[in-house]
Amino acid sequence: MTATLTSPELTRADRCDRCGAAARVRAKLPSGAELLFCQHHANEHEAKLIALAAVLETSSTEL
Ligand SMILES: [Zn+2]
Repeated sequence: MTATLTSPELTRADRCDRCGAAARVRAKLPSGAELLFCQHHANEHEAKLIALAAVLETSSTEL
């Protein structure tokens, strides 16, 4: 792992890990794992993700 984290924008191919809808939010966990969520599930899990010190990135691209 490098210190520089550059992630590609979320695309149509990126799907929510929970329901399979288009992903709008990427959550990066301190472990380095990444989770993808649709807006609905991002909202649902946001508090827990923040508690885990995850970094949330919202897609800036309108799909
Ligand atoms: Zn979802």
